[in-house]
Amino acid sequence: MVITRFAPSPTGRLHAGNIRTALVNWLLARAMGGRFLLRLDDTDRARSTEAAADAIRADLDWLGLTPDGEARQSDRFARYDAALEQLAAAGRAYRAYETPEELELKRRVQQSRGLPPLYDRAALALSAADHERMVAESRAPHWRFKLDHDAPIAWEDGVRGACHFHPEALSDPVIRRADGSWLYLLPSVVDDAEMGVTHVVRGEDHVTNSAVQLQMFAALGAAPPALAHLALLTGADAALSKRLGSEGVDSWQAAGIEPLAVCALLARLGTSQPVEPVTGLDPLIQSFSLSHFGRAPARFDPQDLQALSARILHALPHEAVADRLPGLGADIWTAVQGNLTRLDDARDWQAIIAGPVSATVADEDRDYLQTAAETLERLDWTPDVWQALTGALKETTGRKGRALFMPLRLALTGEAHGPDMASLLPLIGRDAALARLRGA
Ligand code: GLU
Repeated sequence: MVITRFAPSPTGRLHAGNIRTALVNWLLARAMGGRFLLRLDDTDRARSTEAAADAIRADLDWLGLTPDGEARQSDRFARYDAALEQLAAAGRAYRAYETPEELELKRRVQQSRGLPPLYDRAALALSAADHERMVAESRAPHWRFKLDHDAPIAWEDGVRGACHFHPEALSDPVIRRADGSWLYLLPSVVDDAEMGVTHVVRGEDHVTNSAVQLQMFAALGAAPPALAHLALLTGADAALSKRLGSEGVDSWQAAGIEPLAVCALLARLGTSQPVEPVTGLDPLIQSFSLSHFGRAPARFDPQDLQALSARILHALPHEAVADRLPGLGADIWTAVQGNLTRLDDARDWQAIIAGPVSATVADEDRDYLQTAAETLERLDWTPDVWQALTGALKETTGRKGRALFMPLRLALTGEAHGPDMASLLPLIGRDAALARLRGA
């Protein structure tokens, strides 16, 4: 059974990049009939907040990416203690005491010698007596994971293909700070192993972490998950992003972006597949494969999001929007949807159809509109009454094109632009239409 997880730190709102990670993990789980977990990486107690955790859940919910289960790292410290004990007993974790200043100095010396800034493992040479002295001096240790330099690191990445790392080119990572707090690396491995996560899909900024974590899985005797690292998203122009709302769900909501548009765009950005205005998540699930993702960074342009959102609205069936537009029937939806850039605009058209409308018409059109009212009064009220009306008026008044249509549109809707009048007029109804033409 495929199990994926999305593991944000609840320290702020989600943005396009990590929403894409969530979406890809959700799609992978759905495509494989598996499970998708939300794991809150809240080991940083100072920066994690309950409000951020709630916002993450709400954002996923809005997008339709509801998790099948949830875990939080702050509930699991005892597991991490046990894992560290296991690693220490096996000689794969060790105590070190260097201060950040001492480590920085070491790095500078290495740099000046043209050497890579790797931890020199000085703490491995400490004797039992040295450790006792440190304790006596009340110097608390931090813990490092000891990489196995004799075990080359390799995996077949779901996006990047064959990946190789030489462990001796990596520093033994700090896994627990001197104040007892956990860094992300080891808890994540413990959780992925215990929760049976089969696929870890995340941004390529985690590639080096993955190399280290593969050795942690092995050291803990756990089978590693399959790994895939997505190329990063690059944003369009920052000012534009701000205006059109590329930052996250709250700005997308404010801009009237459909959640489906976010999913449709982010599911296909950076893949070999075209971005399409889907009317549900199913087509994205059915066409999903990690193998479609390329290694090149993909550009996220919020303008694409707006355009796609409008195209999705133009295609959504009434039942897909009915609960978000209570009281707005299928007839109105069908008449106005092709004109919408945001769902809320349907309400404006509903109000225009219901009336009253205030229209400003030109003096030279007043007689024409009275003629229109008289003509309409004589016509049968059929679904194609608009064609009948404009056909008759064309003949009797000699008007055509804009001069024929625009005064009618203005008088009937109060707007110079809008949905096809042939669909609107039957919805406005005979009495209201006559009153609007006469009153113009
Ligand atoms: N909390 C980590 C992050 O947000 C999780 C990375 C992972 O998916 O393992 O970057």
